[in-house]
Amino acid sequence: MAFQFVKKIKEIFTGQKDFTSGTRIVINCEKLENRVALLENGVLEEYSIERAGSTHLVGSIFKGRIKNIEQGLKAMFVDIGLDKNAFLHFWDAIPAALDAGLEEVRRGGNSKKPKNVTAKDIPSLYPIGSEILIQVSKGPVGNKGPRVTTNISLAGRLLVLMPLNDSCGISRKIEDPKERARLRGIIEKLTLPEGMGLIMRTEAAGKRARHIIRDLSIVLEQWNEIVANRDSKAAPVCCFQEPDLVERTVRDFLTEEVGEIACDNQEVVERMKTMVAPISRRAVRRITFFNGAGSIFERYQVQRQIDSAFYRQVWLPCGGYIVIDQTEALVAIDVNTGRNKGSGNQDKVLLETNMEAAAEVARQLRLRNMGGLIVVDFIDMKARKDQQSVFKTMIEHTRRDKAKTQILPISQFGLMEMTRQRLHESLSDALYETCPQCKGHGMIKTPLTMSVELQRRVAAVLQRQPENERDILVVVHPDVMQRLRSTDDQLLVDLERKYLARMTFRSDPTYLREQIAIVNAKTGVEIKL
Ligand SMILES: [Zn+2]
Repeated sequence: MAFQFVKKIKEIFTGQKDFTSGTRIVINCEKLENRVALLENGVLEEYSIERAGSTHLVGSIFKGRIKNIEQGLKAMFVDIGLDKNAFLHFWDAIPAALDAGLEEVRRGGNSKKPKNVTAKDIPSLYPIGSEILIQVSKGPVGNKGPRVTTNISLAGRLLVLMPLNDSCGISRKIEDPKERARLRGIIEKLTLPEGMGLIMRTEAAGKRARHIIRDLSIVLEQWNEIVANRDSKAAPVCCFQEPDLVERTVRDFLTEEVGEIACDNQEVVERMKTMVAPISRRAVRRITFFNGAGSIFERYQVQRQIDSAFYRQVWLPCGGYIVIDQTEALVAIDVNTGRNKGSGNQDKVLLETNMEAAAEVARQLRLRNMGGLIVVDFIDMKARKDQQSVFKTMIEHTRRDKAKTQILPISQFGLMEMTRQRLHESLSDALYETCPQCKGHGMIKTPLTMSVELQRRVAAVLQRQPENERDILVVVHPDVMQRLRSTDDQLLVDLERKYLARMTFRSDPTYLREQIAIVNAKTGVEIKL
């Protein structure tokens, strides 16, 4: 208490806030993008970006029309009014069972067993031309259209409503058996329209029944609007759009643990306050407008942490480090002891490094939003017990991840395999494009390599050209020109003599290092090999 008080006084006098404790959300709004950072004790734990004009496709609900059925792919293509037709796998068109992360709760009354629909029945249930209500489960990637499902769900703050599926469940992340029993009791007593089901989110733990009931009525209201849209408009039409980043932030993160939401846009601050007011008066006071000099992300010491989310190498507090490489097939992460020399006990040093690495890997995967197969090469540890501890730490730290992750214990070779299923593209895919210089190799040919290649190509061209057309102009990048002018000068003179040719060189700074043009000097036409 006294410590808190001293801290407050210090903040008032120095004007410097203490960012190293507590949980806060920092929102930066700009014309082209909004950015949201979640900090815990000063450490960046979550980061999302939303670009202007990008519609929030994942989660959106459309009334579409079946365009064609591909028996081979076991899939249908659905026109939902976008450039690309949506992809609906037969499996995603049958009522889904609850996934393993949920404990099923049976409600009395609805004992009527629904007819069992299998993937075989789908083409006859949805013939070409028929209308279908679907939700986007995965955004478009490359030239593939979005992936969609008929298993529609609407997320509230505390629960997820499944309007077309009457299963009910509780998130297994709620571990306390007493709490689970209480929530089970609430589910059994809730009034739910026929045929609907719901899932209690982790956030429901500890919440009073009336808050849960209010949350349910909000999502039911949302569903009624969707039904009204569906019934009044012609396909293809969007019936529901996922809330934008700011709304999602308020919905997902406005829990008791968040001490402050700071935002640098007055309008957004007002909008958030309006959204939060009906839920919690106290929370409204935690939303503050940042009006200071400079950027809000610099002020809250977020920017440096974001920048480092793109480095290959990430340092650990103990002095060790991890190296993250994204390859075509998988994400490879290497763990190194680095400067962590410890005090004699080698096993302890290895364990410490691996433990810190596990926590950092979980955080980096979340920040970078990396997906697919991930292989972590931990430092070899002899003791089975130590391997178990690292495995447990990884599970512990991936628990908060909204993307589904699966983790296998450390193998004989010291590798940990995991998969992470993400819904949006990775941060680097969203912000970067392949380098035109190296086409993603990360390396380009040296001037020497280019000089060798150039001499080979010039020789091949000259050999083919009739003797009276051996007046050529060679255009190269300045780096290559430098090499040709100095070290390789004599070699080019030799080439001219050998082929009785005339060669002129020009350097062009707009050329890529690996680019060469050989041009007929009289006609100006490029000579292709
Ligand atoms: Zn490059």
